[in-house]
Amino acid sequence: MTQTFRPRSGFQLDWLPQRLIRASTVTSPRWRLGLGLIVVSLQLALTYLVYLMGGAQYTYAHAMYLPIVLAAILFSAPAGVLAGIVGGLLLGPWMPADVGQAQPQILFNWLYRLVAFALTGGLVGLLFDELRRQIRQVTWLAHHDPISGLPNITLLFHQLQQALQQPEPQIGLVMVQFENMSTLDEIFGCTSTSTLTRQVALRLQQGLPSETLVCRVYAHRLVILLVGQSQQQIERTLTWANRALMQPFELEQIPVHLETVIGYCTVSAEMTAREAMMKANRALSYAQVRGRSIWQYDIQCDRITRDSIELLGSLQEAIAQDQLRLHFQPKIDLTDGTIVGVEALVRWQHPTRGSVAPHQFIPAAENTTLIDPLTDWVLDRALRQCNYWKGQGIDLTLAVNISPRNLQNPEFSLKIRRLLKRYRFDPAKLELEITEGAMMQDPEAVINLLEGLYQHRLNIAIDDFGTGYSSLAYIHRLPVTVLKVDQSFVRDLMTKPELQPIVQAIIAVGHACQMQVVAEGIEDAASMAWLLQHGCDMGQGYWISRPLTPLGFEAWYQSCDGVSQQWLDLGTDYRAQGS
Ligand code: C2E
Ligand code: MG
Ligand code: MG
Repeated sequence: MTQTFRPRSGFQLDWLPQRLIRASTVTSPRWRLGLGLIVVSLQLALTYLVYLMGGAQYTYAHAMYLPIVLAAILFSAPAGVLAGIVGGLLLGPWMPADVGQAQPQILFNWLYRLVAFALTGGLVGLLFDELRRQIRQVTWLAHHDPISGLPNITLLFHQLQQALQQPEPQIGLVMVQFENMSTLDEIFGCTSTSTLTRQVALRLQQGLPSETLVCRVYAHRLVILLVGQSQQQIERTLTWANRALMQPFELEQIPVHLETVIGYCTVSAEMTAREAMMKANRALSYAQVRGRSIWQYDIQCDRITRDSIELLGSLQEAIAQDQLRLHFQPKIDLTDGTIVGVEALVRWQHPTRGSVAPHQFIPAAENTTLIDPLTDWVLDRALRQCNYWKGQGIDLTLAVNISPRNLQNPEFSLKIRRLLKRYRFDPAKLELEITEGAMMQDPEAVINLLEGLYQHRLNIAIDDFGTGYSSLAYIHRLPVTVLKVDQSFVRDLMTKPELQPIVQAIIAVGHACQMQVVAEGIEDAASMAWLLQHGCDMGQGYWISRPLTPLGFEAWYQSCDGVSQQWLDLGTDYRAQGS
């Protein structure tokens, strides 16, 4: 638990200096005028006191140091000098040395006093000016990140707490994490990446409402505090920010792409600043685990982020203890209905949670080296299964999902070739599926890595095509033989006719690049008929078959004798139109 600092009660020695320093930093002109009048009045009063007490030769003249030092402390060195000169003149030529005897002062005496007053005022003023400068610096350092110059977490908490005290606060708390900043740190050094952080903050500040606070809370994370914004305005602002961050930045004259993930929450009046930070943090972790670029906090985030951390922690054990299972989803040739292949999809039979779907652990595993043993396991079991089926007269192509992280492992290609040899599987019948989004994160690097596999006659498929912002400039260069249309376009093909021209265009792009086009997510006969008529080569989806256990698939395949019953059920008319 954090302890708040409470000053001790009772009189303290530093009470007066603290008050004086605080008064000296007051900027309100009215206050400063007031303080100035106090100093002048004190000087006049003391002059009168000296006169009443008998004149300048008596000790009361020393009391004039008080307003001079006060002026120096409150208004800086020049004011100290000025107060010294005024004090020197007030106690100077017109003030008798002895009032009773009407004895005037010697010129040297009052001049000497004036110089001493002015010097004291100047020196005290200089000392306090330096003290004020240092206090300002320490205060700034306590509220800012010294490297980037951006506000830090202390200032963020302070502003957030203030915003929460407003009646009906409308606040958005946004965390922006730079995923590839460590790599950039390694290449350019951390000073350069701090420059990059400043560039990011500047770009954001230019487009965000003026009262927005952009803070650096960790080396690779910014927090944006949006105040006075409705839910809709926050969403609009973040869509803009997300797009703005996608534009390249510049480091050492090189354009640099920043991989960002955004998590945010809207803050309500009953939340504390700590709770709000925790919620935004969880939304960010959720976005990272689920592979989303932006995510708003909801109740799921609490559960899922904790769950995925726990699942990730026990994944290695799950592989070793054989808790993973493979299901196979058939893929058919749309021109003749034959079952041409299967896609291997992993499931986790968890001892306490039951069946765990891949989206609950794969995206998190893909961010770690755990994806390597996982993919090794899937490849081994899937090839072993297909080898067994081949012995049973079921000769199929096999599609396995892989992650770009697998490709970065220099042993990956060798491991696949060893497995192909062990299970006597034709490399031309193995398809490695990589999602379009993953491919496009660093297309040049992926193209190079895929070239190696392609040279060994392995097929590469772009999975979930249509969702990953491919550039046409890259597609024709990718050594890819299969393009899988994302199921979000196929599932609603009949209910949302506006999707049809998009799917038609994807089929055309695939064919223009000499790729076979597979539609995944076929959920009804009408969609299959439409795809058949529009030249799609292959199909996969719940309407043909859900993913099945190995035994389930074998039984299903044998029951229809290798030709999809659903395809046959389409009727000759449709099939004829397609062919
Ligand atoms: P994916 O590779 O695009 O696989 C297709 C997903 O869509 C599967 O979900 C499948 O069950 C589902 N699906 C198939 N047909 C239909 C349909 O007609 N309608 C609907 N609504 N869904 C359909 P699943 O098995 O949950 O897998 C989800 C994703 O997890 C996969 O998407 C893939 O990206 C990933 N994944 C699965 N297994 C592996 C694996 O072994 N390794 C890696 N790296 N990723 C895997
Ligand atoms: Mg796939
Ligand atoms: Mg897919």
